[in-house]
Amino acid sequence: MQKLRRVKLTAEAYVREQFHTRMRPPEECPNCGRLHRLWAHGYYGRWTTDEVGKALRFLVRRFLCTFCGITVSCLPCFAQPYRLVNHTTLEAFLEGRDGRRDVQAQAGLLKRYARRFAEWRPSLLRIVGHRFGRASPKEEATAFWRRAVAACGSAAELTMQLVHEFRTTCFRTCRCHQPSPAQ
Ligand SMILES: [Zn+2]
Repeated sequence: MQKLRRVKLTAEAYVREQFHTRMRPPEECPNCGRLHRLWAHGYYGRWTTDEVGKALRFLVRRFLCTFCGITVSCLPCFAQPYRLVNHTTLEAFLEGRDGRRDVQAQAGLLKRYARRFAEWRPSLLRIVGHRFGRASPKEEATAFWRRAVAACGSAAELTMQLVHEFRTTCFRTCRCHQPSPAQ
C-alpha cells in the first residue's frame, strides 16, 4: 500500500539530505490497523520534478507489516502518486502561473493531467460528494480543481486527503490505496 507523508522539504532537499533514510514508519498499519508492526523494508526509486521542472529521481521508504504481511511505501508529499510532476508545479499551473520555468518545462504533461482530471471528475464527485465545496455543472473542471486545492490549502494536502480519507486520487482510484489480503 501507499501512504503520503508530510515533509517540509522540497524534492531537491529530500534528495540532498537523503531524507528517505530518516522516514519513520507509520504508527498504524493502513491495512490491518495494528500498531507498531511496521518494520523497515528497503527502498524503491521513482521520479518527480525539481523547481525548474526537470526530472529528479528520489528514493521511497518501504515498510513491512509483521502482522498482515503487507508492504507500505511512504511517498513524500511533494510527489504525486503515479504522476511525474511535483505538487508545487501542479499548483502553479492550476493558478495560471504559466510564465514559471517549471510550468513551461512540463506544460504538455500538465495539460494531460488537466484533461484526465476533467474525465475523472464525475467519478471523483461520486466519491467525495461536497467535501471540497459544491461543484457546479457549468464550472470548468480546472476551476473546480483550483477550488479544491484552495479548500485544502495546497495541492499536496488535497492529494493527501483524497488518499487517506477517500482512498482515491485526482486522476483515478488505485489498488495501492485499498486494504487487501496479505501479499
Ligand atoms: Zn498490517
